Amino acid sequence: MRVAIIGTGYVGLSTGVCLSEIGHHVTCIDIDEQKIKQLRIGISPIYEPGLEDLLANNIAAERLRFTTSYKEGLELAEIIIIAVGTPQRDDGGADLSYLEKAAKDIAYHLKQNTIVVIKSTVPVGTNEYIKKIMEEHCRKNISFEVVSNPEFLRQGSAIQDTMQADRIIIGSENKEAAEKVREMYSSLNIPVIVTSTRSAELIKYASNAFLASKISFINEIANLCESVGADVIDVAKGMGKDKRIGEAFLYAGIGYGGSCFPKDVKALLHTAQLNKINFSMLEQTIAINNDQQALLVKKALIRFGSVKGKKIALLGLAFKPETDDMREAPSIKIARSLTQLGAEVIAYDPVAINNAKKILGDIIQFASSVHETATNADAIMIVTEWKEFKDLEVASLIKIMKHPIIFDGRNCFNEDRIRACDIIEYYPVGRPAIVKGMDNERTTSL
Ligand code: NAD
Repeated sequence: MRVAIIGTGYVGLSTGVCLSEIGHHVTCIDIDEQKIKQLRIGISPIYEPGLEDLLANNIAAERLRFTTSYKEGLELAEIIIIAVGTPQRDDGGADLSYLEKAAKDIAYHLKQNTIVVIKSTVPVGTNEYIKKIMEEHCRKNISFEVVSNPEFLRQGSAIQDTMQADRIIIGSENKEAAEKVREMYSSLNIPVIVTSTRSAELIKYASNAFLASKISFINEIANLCESVGADVIDVAKGMGKDKRIGEAFLYAGIGYGGSCFPKDVKALLHTAQLNKINFSMLEQTIAINNDQQALLVKKALIRFGSVKGKKIALLGLAFKPETDDMREAPSIKIARSLTQLGAEVIAYDPVAINNAKKILGDIIQFASSVHETATNADAIMIVTEWKEFKDLEVASLIKIMKHPIIFDGRNCFNEDRIRACDIIEYYPVGRPAIVKGMDNERTTSL
């Protein structure tokens, strides 16, 4: 099939390389000239494991092209997939301006019987709204369909998630259009669920809001664990083995971030409010997450009294491992409040430093290795659970610090590795802290 994709961000680019890998002829269109220039020579503007290999293969096979021109990109397209951003507005709703602009530009070049697929995450009713905009802007007598096909990939495993998704949701009021979109994905052998466009739009928000609520739930359990002396890792393991609950998304930590959960939970709450539904559970999900992002700073204040003049080493900046994305990353809030409180902050991340510099470049320092970050630090805060950090030799790491204090926001280490250190203060989330070798050995919580 000939497919055009509008927007070559995390979703559009991952979808583009995967669809070309399974044999479709894909043209990716973006308004960002720099991005398109890089992509044409096989350089990915984002960090995503496995993406650059597929990019190179499919450019070489002439199944994947990049352009800034709608005219050129839409020339032969049977299916046009829109994957532009839908960021959060100030009132919590989704900003549809990129989508509206793309829809008008597509409409202008639209050919007979094309299917326009909205992959961007959009509030209920948006597919109908976009169809109307396109009808107003396309040539007379052009017939086309708008189909909802929300995306569920996770940054950091976007290629695998696209190739082996749990399900594909197709929302359409037109059977033939739904069948054509199903056919586009058919060689992937992924279960397909066909619904109305409104249900498809809501499935996406309901899924993300549920996962975010699961995270906030386990974080509240973690806080309770610290008070009652239980261990959240054991509690989550015991809960997760129950098939009705499941093991995923039961990792306590310093809260969710990223380009999706924060904005999608707020957008769903906004939709509920517009429809006079009291979805207070979502308000709590958001409030708990905000508190949780402040947890490490709170613990440091309890431990030190004041962090003024303390050198704090942040390990990890990206909102999660295996991505360079800094959107809504907990590290931003942590770095800002530490510096406001007078701490000196130095940070390291395996891939997100360039993006982090754009946000935090004026207030913190950056290092090029864990070793450099930790040298003479008063404390380490683990913010992102990169494998590189999980594999660290804790015993030798703390030797280069001024004080052997670790606030672990992602529970990266098991008890044995911490107990193997002669001197250490280790403060995980939802588990007993370990304070060893100072006075008498004790386990405690802050
Ligand atoms: P992104 O910001 O990484 O990429 C958006 C791209 O669209 C940018 O390259 C931008 O230049 C381009 N663009 C904007 N306006 C355009 C236009 N008029 N014509 C052509 N290109 C245009 O966004 P993303 O993270 O890929 O997310 C895209 C959508 O998918 C959002 O609605 C998001 O909520 C949803 N989503 C994202 C993820 C994720 O993990 N990032 C997962 C599932 C769903």
